[in-house]
Amino acid sequence: MSNIIAIVGRPNVGKSTLFNRLTESRKAIVKEVSGVTRDRIYGRGEWCGVDFSVIDTGGYVQGSDDIFEDEIAKQVKIAIEEANVIIFMVDVMTGITDLDDAVVNILRKTKKKIFIGANKVDNTDRIGLSSEFWGLGLGDVYDLSAVNGSGTGELLDDIIKEF
Ligand code: GDP
Ligand code: MG
Repeated sequence: MSNIIAIVGRPNVGKSTLFNRLTESRKAIVKEVSGVTRDRIYGRGEWCGVDFSVIDTGGYVQGSDDIFEDEIAKQVKIAIEEANVIIFMVDVMTGITDLDDAVVNILRKTKKKIFIGANKVDNTDRIGLSSEFWGLGLGDVYDLSAVNGSGTGELLDDIIKEF
C-alpha cells in the first residue's frame, strides 16, 4: 500500500471533521475497523488526480485520564506504522496541552513526514495563533479550518508531493 495519510492528535481538535472533508467524495468506501471502540476509520480521497487513503484515529474508549492517554498513544503508534505521511492536528484555540505533548513525544520517534494541521483558524482574526506550533520542530504548520475548508487545499498540495 502507498499514499496513506494518518490523522492523529488528542480528542476534539477536529480530526474527524478533517477526515470527512478529505474523503467527502468517496464516503461510500469508508470502512470502520473495530466496531466497539471505533479505534480507526479508513476512507479514500483524491486531490489533483492523486488517490490516497486516510486513517482517522481516536473514537477512544472512555476511562481515566491514564487509559485515555494510553489509548491515544496506542492509536498514534499504529497509525504511524500504517501511514506514509502524518497530519498532526492541533487546536489553535487551546494551544499546546499536556495531551498534545504526549502525542508529540511519540511523533518525535518517527522519521515519517509530519504536517501540523493548526485547526480552527476559521477567520483572519485567528491567523497568528498557530505560531507556537512551529516551535515544536516537528514539521511545517498549516492553518486550517476543517469546518469551512480553508487551508486544506494548500495542505493537500504539499502532501501529494510526498507520494
Ligand atoms: P476529533 O475528536 O479530533 O475527531 O474532533 P471532531 O472532528 O469530532 O471535532 C471536535 C469539535 O470541534 C466538534 O464540535 C467540531 O465541530 C469542532 N471543529 C472541528 N473543526 C473545527 C474548525 O475548523 N473550527 C471550529 N470552530 N470548530 C471545529
Ligand atoms: Mg474523531
